[in-house]
Amino acid sequence: MQLLDGTAVSAHIKAQLKTEVDILKVNGGKIPHLAAILVGNNPASEAYVGSKVRTCEELGFGSTLLRFEPSITEELLLIEVDKLNSDASIDGILVQLPLPKHIEENAIINAIDPLKDVDGFHPISQGKMMLGQPTFLPATPYGMMMMLEHYGIDVTGKHCVIIGRSNIVGTPMTILMSRNTNPGNATVTLAHSKTKNLKELTLQADVIVAAIGRPRFVTADMVKEGAIVLDVGINRIDDATRKSGSRLVGDVDFDQVAEKCSFITPVPKGVGPMTICGLMKNTLLAAKGKKALSN
Ligand code: NAD
Repeated sequence: MQLLDGTAVSAHIKAQLKTEVDILKVNGGKIPHLAAILVGNNPASEAYVGSKVRTCEELGFGSTLLRFEPSITEELLLIEVDKLNSDASIDGILVQLPLPKHIEENAIINAIDPLKDVDGFHPISQGKMMLGQPTFLPATPYGMMMMLEHYGIDVTGKHCVIIGRSNIVGTPMTILMSRNTNPGNATVTLAHSKTKNLKELTLQADVIVAAIGRPRFVTADMVKEGAIVLDVGINRIDDATRKSGSRLVGDVDFDQVAEKCSFITPVPKGVGPMTICGLMKNTLLAAKGKKALSN
């Protein structure tokens, strides 16, 4: 079994991005600038936004963190998004999800200028991705594809079972894995909460992508020998042995499943750091402007 080390791969990609920014600085090019919107103070969202802003600093990107009270109205938040859309110094806009229930997430995502949609959640970005046109890819699936590419894992003709059909992970991952690209060209099955024969499907899988949000849901009896397993889940469980009283686990029962795998991502330090790389690559692409994205 080989561990797919998200920390190591992301360090490698971040070094490349930093070099690109250093060159832009020398040549007087536009330095990428990411604006993040955080509504409320959900601890997980705080942690995710914090690490995105820190990564911007590490790479020499500019960043702006806009914080709003959870009581902000949808109307006011739309005005804030619009201000960022028309601010030429801002290249990428990220709205940390989830938003409070009184705000329609789609309304906010749809309001982001598609040329600044570095999370790749806008319908135009998702539509272009589906058609194979240049665009911002959703950061988590993009990060997983970079991980496969880094390790030279060829998934051509392999059966990939993706568990979870969210718009930000599972569904776009089915598109990227099945495209005629390298990595890509896999035969994909998308499983979800209404799938009846999940174990039957996963036992046929050469590649399993778990994006469910249930701790250690994928157990060893669901995985065939030699499978490649990408674990997207981030779940906090109680752990009395830890000072904090809790720890993070994925959607895969790592200790048991790892023994059967050819490759597996750990949680933490697997897919998570790759997601941030996807976001940073998109922000650099946004700073390079319309030309890089035109088609
Ligand atoms: P989600 O939470 O929106 O939806 C969960 C999906 O799991 C649904 O599509 C549902 O159909 C499916 N599902 C639920 N129960 C199932 C069952 N019994 N059998 C099969 N499918 C089932 O999905 P999400 O936003 O993609 O998040 C999934 C997990 O990934 C969460 O733990 C989230 O925190 C994590 N996540 C991690 C990253 C990262 O960077 N590592 C990024 C995004 C999400």
